Amino acid sequence: MAKVLIPTPLRQFTGKLDSVTVSGATVGEVLNGLTSQHPELRRQIFTDEGKLRSFVNVYLNDEDIRYLGKDATPTADGDTVSLVPSIAGGSAVAAPPEEVTLSKDEILRYSRHLIIPEVGIEGQKKLKAAKVLLVGTGGLGAPLGLYLAAAGIGKIGLVDFDVVDFTNLQRQVIHSTKDVGRNKIDSAAEKMQGINPHLEIVRHEVALTSENALEILKDYDLVVDGTDNFPTRYLVNDACVLLGKPNVYGSIFRFEGQSTVFAYEGGPCYRCLYPEPPPPGLVPSCAEGGVLGILPGTIGLIQATETVKLILGIGEPLVGRLLLYDALGMRFRELKLRKNPECPICGEHRTITKLIDYHQFCGVPQPNAQAPAQESKVSEGEIDVKEVKAMLDRGDSFVLIDVREPHEYQICNIPAAKLIPLGQVAQRLNELDKSADIVIHCKSGIRSAKACGILRGAGFERVRNMKGGILAWADHVDPSVPKY
Ligand code: ZN
Repeated sequence: MAKVLIPTPLRQFTGKLDSVTVSGATVGEVLNGLTSQHPELRRQIFTDEGKLRSFVNVYLNDEDIRYLGKDATPTADGDTVSLVPSIAGGSAVAAPPEEVTLSKDEILRYSRHLIIPEVGIEGQKKLKAAKVLLVGTGGLGAPLGLYLAAAGIGKIGLVDFDVVDFTNLQRQVIHSTKDVGRNKIDSAAEKMQGINPHLEIVRHEVALTSENALEILKDYDLVVDGTDNFPTRYLVNDACVLLGKPNVYGSIFRFEGQSTVFAYEGGPCYRCLYPEPPPPGLVPSCAEGGVLGILPGTIGLIQATETVKLILGIGEPLVGRLLLYDALGMRFRELKLRKNPECPICGEHRTITKLIDYHQFCGVPQPNAQAPAQESKVSEGEIDVKEVKAMLDRGDSFVLIDVREPHEYQICNIPAAKLIPLGQVAQRLNELDKSADIVIHCKSGIRSAKACGILRGAGFERVRNMKGGILAWADHVDPSVPKY
């Protein structure tokens, strides 16, 4: 019997179980047993041809079994099989130039560093000479920015074009309540400069794109990835590999985090770990799935620790090892990461030699900052929130369905709506009348669009998606409805 650990994003297919015990003589048999117990997992783990999907890695105990193959890897009683999906986280710096010196103020400020033999004056000068690019000033970027500034990194570049929102304050501790509505880069730079006036901050107030990434990254010694979406993760990875810069990676989801160092002196890169992104929608973002506010602090500080170690050239860098953190179990696990000889960007036969279109690669639409969703017109198959309100007021005969989760329904709801969480829609079609007019809503309109697709696929013809979800309802119909 082997125990299969189910990661959070896949637990929706196992009835919330976090581990399943299955018998089987090989990893392949164990996974087949798992997917016969939980059939919905099958298409998440396997391709139609029965091969392992490349955005899910499988480990037997702490060994990556990908190169041996699932069917050639025997299992023994008591073995642990881990499914690890991708989750929407020597000195890198040469000796400091001679002109880098520490002033009397700086010697006092960094005295607790200077008396550690592994840092000392020489190490503090390395930190002062270092140039670090921080991509994102959100959850991971907040602790990173504060501590890297305090530690005495000489130059920190910040990449962000977002604005501080109320929902950020639960975890993005670099921003204050009074900063809501301000540009994150200004808010972050002010706090960091307040901690350390010796710090030079370079502002890159843009979205990192294939067009500007190499130009922005090239002036830095190393890059810290604090992004929250797959297109930017692949972009940061590829740019780091092409430029030969270490990429200090961290990612978070609900109660779990991952961290490692990619593209460092022959070590693996993000594409070695995950050659392709998960299909859009499989792995929810923090905005969709939630995140424990403290979690990015833990993971961001692991990234900050690795950054400082790489600059100082001390300790054992987190290269070729994926650190997994489970806040609920309060456990760290470490998995070995190997460089994939067939990796399209860092392997022996490279097929990617320049940056590509990452939104297309990840199958997600290009964000369009110019056109707010609420203002765009209602398209075919959609209905405006005000029209839904008018239908309710007139007493029109129609069924309103809310496909969010019960804990979201408790936060706010439209009383007339029937709650059928998206994951149950396919099983509960018998509760719905094909001849009725049906309007479906969720939080923002994405899940309800999927639900509309399921109903239409099952022969329901009079189905419409409430555009913008309950957030649009709060904006345009009932301002007393709380937004979340
Ligand atoms: Zn690679």
